[in-house]
Amino acid sequence: MRRGNDVVARLIEAAQRRAREGLARRLREITQGHTTHVVLDGRRLLNFSSNDYLGLAGHPDLVAALKDAADRHGVGATAASLVCGHRRPHSELEQALAEWTGRERALLFGTGYAANLGVLQALLDAGDSCVQDRLNHASLIDGARLAGCSLRRYPHADTEAARRQLALDERGGALLVTDGVFSMDGDVAPLAALAACAHDMDAAMMVDDAHGLGVLGPEGAGSVAEAGLDAKQVPVLMATLGKALGTAGAFVAGNADFIAALAQFARSHVYSTAPPPALAAATLAAVGIARREQWRRDHLAALVDHFQRGARALDLPVMPSRTPIQPLLLGSAEQVVAVSAALEQAGFLVVAIRPPTVPVGRSRLRITFTAQHSLDDVDALLRALAAAMRDNIGSGVGSDVGSPVQLPRS
Ligand SMILES: *Cc1c(COP(=O)(O)O)cnc(C)c1O
Repeated sequence: MRRGNDVVARLIEAAQRRAREGLARRLREITQGHTTHVVLDGRRLLNFSSNDYLGLAGHPDLVAALKDAADRHGVGATAASLVCGHRRPHSELEQALAEWTGRERALLFGTGYAANLGVLQALLDAGDSCVQDRLNHASLIDGARLAGCSLRRYPHADTEAARRQLALDERGGALLVTDGVFSMDGDVAPLAALAACAHDMDAAMMVDDAHGLGVLGPEGAGSVAEAGLDAKQVPVLMATLGKALGTAGAFVAGNADFIAALAQFARSHVYSTAPPPALAAATLAAVGIARREQWRRDHLAALVDHFQRGARALDLPVMPSRTPIQPLLLGSAEQVVAVSAALEQAGFLVVAIRPPTVPVGRSRLRITFTAQHSLDDVDALLRALAAAMRDNIGSGVGSDVGSPVQLPRS
């Protein structure tokens, strides 16, 4: 039998097509450094592309906690949680995360991607409907697909559209899902309005707070805490540990009965090795610092404010974000790549974000700040941005949408 459709060859061709379109992503090796400076291709760059918002990834207390727990527990958890992989540091961390987010219990997952697949697949069945913001993280979309429910996506942050979509199907169960802070835009979801909508439409609500935890709310408890929403209004709260907390992994928090049930049914929890116990110990240290050290959030707010003012003065295409995610929307993938390359030449790492991560015509420089950056770092970035944009935009590099960004010639 000849199928004439070799799945491996087809995939390779798709990658080649993507490369021809200039949309292939490059794997680059950082040889040294973390937090503000990294060494790439032998050059030291000021990094504005990490998600280490609080600057904790390299914090000596986290490193010490990791080493100490590795001495006591070894490296690997050796099994899934429900077999014999659940260790003391995991329990301590789950408790700390539940307390911080104001929930009864929390359940750890190896990654945020796995957490979202697991929780959506556990909650949703074929007859149910899942209504999501169009800009939600890929793992939320994939989780709903895996669950086999009907998936509807409403225009970004449009609560009324979410309400209409929830009204379309009233037979099965319904779950309204949103990012708390949108990962590529930096804006915060209209959480209170969405929670009211979910309540009216008799739907449960889930928030993925990957970019809000540690950054927003009292003691950094996240966007849901900032909006004052409890476990009744947002019964399913998910967040990751690899962003502001500077480690890796994720958790889902909620009422004790829900979390106990999730531990039984979330397949990415049941059938996956527990995260390394030492990583849980390091994350526990991170939670303590994140809660205690308000100066990190205050300093981030000062950096964001300084950047927004400076960027507006330079007529840079900033987006309305009050979080450490400060994208510059350029539109065309070619232009973003050119500006990013020029910034790298000038000593700055600001990675170009292109389709399919963002919609066609919405390519951007995704600038992120950490509490380790200084106001001088932001000034240096602004100067480099102005020069890179002046030299690379409007000079005929293909623009696939709208009008190219105009910069004052100074
Ligand atoms: C990063 C991210 C995830 C995935 O988390 P990982 O731990 O990196 O797998 C999920 N949701 C959102 C909104 C994210 O930004």
